[in-house]
Amino acid sequence: MVKRDYYEVLGVGKKASADEIKRAYRRLAMKYHPDKNPDNKEAEAKFKECAEAYEVLSDLEKRRRYDQFGHEGLRGMGMRDYTHMRWQDIGSMFEDMFGFDDFFGDIFGRRMGRSGGRRGTSRGYDLETTVELTLKDVARGAEKTIEFTRQDVCPECGGSGCAKGTTPSRCSVCNGSGQVARGGGFFQMVSTCRQCGGSGQIITSPCKKCRGTGRVPKKRMVSIKIPPGVHEGQGIRVASEGEPGRSGGPRGDLYCYVKVKGHEFLRREGNDLVAVVPISFTQAALGTTIDVPSLDGRRGLKIPPGTQYGSVFRIRGQGLPDIRTGRGGDELVQVTIETPARLNTKQEELLREFAKAENKSVFPQSKRFFERLKKYFSNNR
Ligand SMILES: [Zn+2]
Ligand SMILES: [Zn+2]
Repeated sequence: MVKRDYYEVLGVGKKASADEIKRAYRRLAMKYHPDKNPDNKEAEAKFKECAEAYEVLSDLEKRRRYDQFGHEGLRGMGMRDYTHMRWQDIGSMFEDMFGFDDFFGDIFGRRMGRSGGRRGTSRGYDLETTVELTLKDVARGAEKTIEFTRQDVCPECGGSGCAKGTTPSRCSVCNGSGQVARGGGFFQMVSTCRQCGGSGQIITSPCKKCRGTGRVPKKRMVSIKIPPGVHEGQGIRVASEGEPGRSGGPRGDLYCYVKVKGHEFLRREGNDLVAVVPISFTQAALGTTIDVPSLDGRRGLKIPPGTQYGSVFRIRGQGLPDIRTGRGGDELVQVTIETPARLNTKQEELLREFAKAENKSVFPQSKRFFERLKKYFSNNR
């Protein structure tokens, strides 16, 4: 099988930071996790591919070798053979890596404290979903109901994973400890038992409904409060709405990522809103009041006489609130000036009349420009 580029596998750039790589891997591993894709060969292959890519890109030395020599460079670097590993084993490695981790800051920049569970129990995975907001939602804050699917205890077996009337038997490989020791003497390595996946038990006749996992996917709705001023891509943490933990461990969290819908007329720039409004050259010259779009509808804006192309007018406090301070940004109205085209005879006559009467002092910019040009060519002959 041809190996794909590891950066491509994780969907990150060549210069991605360790954090970006971790996040990308976490996202993908959760998507292709065996718990969520039972009997799905394609997900299994993807999951393994991601794990391999992560092993390389998360390790400074391996990443350096890979950047320099490609896949060839990893020979003799002690890479795991993911293709031939059990999907579930890689799953538990992932869990060991991320289950108790606290790398993920929430939107207010706090670090989330994660308490490690007792041996045998572990915190459930976090889930991710998106919430779509309009600019108005961003301005005012919003309360949204999110529907998502998460795992629940299987109602058939009560979470044991065993068919009715059966009980799990003790794993013969690890003798029920869930761990096996490899190697000998000084460097004894203890690792999760592959046979039972660390549970110490083997389910001999699995529950039909959940195929022995003890869990079934279930739709859930939660209502979340979104503070005013959120930005595209920010995650809002909803505590304990993720997947259930193992052996009674606490649920993970739900991360709800913000997606802001585009507005017909307003573009967001930080906490400011920008509108580009075309006006006619006579309006620009003579001054006028125009209608400009704002979040609350239309509002009047005074254009002073002699307004130039590209001028920006600031309407204070009509932007979006700052997520920390709540202070409002501004709306910036940028005007463009439309040159009249396809004039009728009357209009053309009037303009020719105007052109004849045109006094250079009316156009200081072009006057200055052509004077400079003349001077330049007389000095640089
Ligand atoms: Zn079941
Ligand atoms: Zn075992």
